[in-house]
Amino acid sequence: MNYNSTCDSHRTASAAEAIATGISREGGLFVPERFPQLTQERLLQLSKLSYIERAKDILGEYLTDFTEEELYRCVSGAYAGKFDDESVTNLARLSDNAYLLELWHGPTCAFKDMALQLLPHLLTTSAKKVVDGKEIVILVATSGDTGKAALEGFKDVPGTRMLVFYPEQGVSPMQKLQMTTQEGGNVAVCGIRGNFDDAQTAVKRIFTDQALAERLERSGRMFSSANSINWGRLAPQIVYYISAYCDLLADEEIALGDPINICVPTGNFGNILAAYYAKRMGLPVARLICASNENNVLTEFIETGVYNRNRPFRTTISPSMDILISSNLERLLYALADNDDAQVRALMDSLNAEGSYTLPAPMLERLRDEFAAGCCDDDATRAAIRATFDTYSYLCDPHTAVAVKVYQDYVARTGDSTKTVIASTANPFKFSHSVLEALGEPVEGLAEFELVERLAGRTGCEIPAGLASLKGKAPRFSDVCDREGILDYVVEQLGL
Ligand SMILES: *Cc1c(COP(=O)(O)O)cnc(C)c1O
Repeated sequence: MNYNSTCDSHRTASAAEAIATGISREGGLFVPERFPQLTQERLLQLSKLSYIERAKDILGEYLTDFTEEELYRCVSGAYAGKFDDESVTNLARLSDNAYLLELWHGPTCAFKDMALQLLPHLLTTSAKKVVDGKEIVILVATSGDTGKAALEGFKDVPGTRMLVFYPEQGVSPMQKLQMTTQEGGNVAVCGIRGNFDDAQTAVKRIFTDQALAERLERSGRMFSSANSINWGRLAPQIVYYISAYCDLLADEEIALGDPINICVPTGNFGNILAAYYAKRMGLPVARLICASNENNVLTEFIETGVYNRNRPFRTTISPSMDILISSNLERLLYALADNDDAQVRALMDSLNAEGSYTLPAPMLERLRDEFAAGCCDDDATRAAIRATFDTYSYLCDPHTAVAVKVYQDYVARTGDSTKTVIASTANPFKFSHSVLEALGEPVEGLAEFELVERLAGRTGCEIPAGLASLKGKAPRFSDVCDREGILDYVVEQLGL
């Protein structure tokens, strides 16, 4: 299996090359040249396996240059014993037709762990194949959860070095504490005065700076990415949608071949793109429902075909979705254009020049065949947290609550009774302030761990160990820079 670039469909790379480099050198994103097909028989077989075995099987279809033994080592290194649920993910029933796919049982309590526990294994195995001996310098732009999950995945991994940039004013106190207290000799964390888009754009520019890349190369190092532009981040996410279908089958909630819907709280479009890829592999999926917060650029896009980032950036209580430039959308465009790189380039050029683009009619039609969309503001998010807890005794975090609300609106609008898997992307204790406030409790003047303990008291839910252990821990990192200063910071940290 080879990979092409969204900017140049003639460029081919092996899986190991795609993962080791992260982004194609002309700035495109790597995409698989075709989608391996899952038959119903295969789904039935997979439903009898453990998560680790399913992951090894499915990833084997994409990472064809990895040996069986390498794959097994990567997957079991990532998932065995690292998650507080022995089946790695958990599928919780919400109502008659809706299930929450809990993806936050890993060490940092967000769904990013599903990919970022595995990525270091994939990356070091890939690097050995294609660039043996080089140190890999990973730059990460984060809206909150990626940073911590990447730090935790890569800390003290030999042959790697990691620099993380997060919006200083744009993450929750717990997210900030998780990152600034990070241990490990090969990592550094820096706040930026700007938002996630600023951080992501600056980091992407550094990746494609040829002069800098050459200087780094001369010192025996190379850049790579742990953001969802890296194929090694996306591939592991395809697994859990297939696995959720297998769980529904195994539990006799559905019959083989029954279509399901998948609803995903979306920011950078990585998680929902993985669900789309699962569908392209033959997983019976009827509709993909894209849920956004007030930064509803994707809702408008799916409804009208116009992508327009020229709008105010809103800071919300679901910060990991505060994004106006969803970088993985480029991969969807490539698929909707039938791998026509010229069409993708034209749209991306328009996005860079004008901040907007309009899909040609045939692409819009295909988009609307596959996707539905919706959005809600912070008040509706808080109301959804409260209603979900009161009605179903289920406590969800603000990101998951956006998806629950958008799903309920979708059902009210369409009457669609298809069984639906809703991605549950973070543990609610990561956002104790917002969740407690949503439940109608006083929050004024309370310190982070007072909020955490009150939330546990009010709901009877257990505080995850990964968060409890941060109490009283002193921050290690206090650097902050302007967005223009990111390059200088990188140069200084790397001694270039
Ligand atoms: C990252 C994140 C999202 C958004 O996922 P994308 O892949 O960027 O669309 C949603 N919820 C949480 C909790 C996240 O950390």
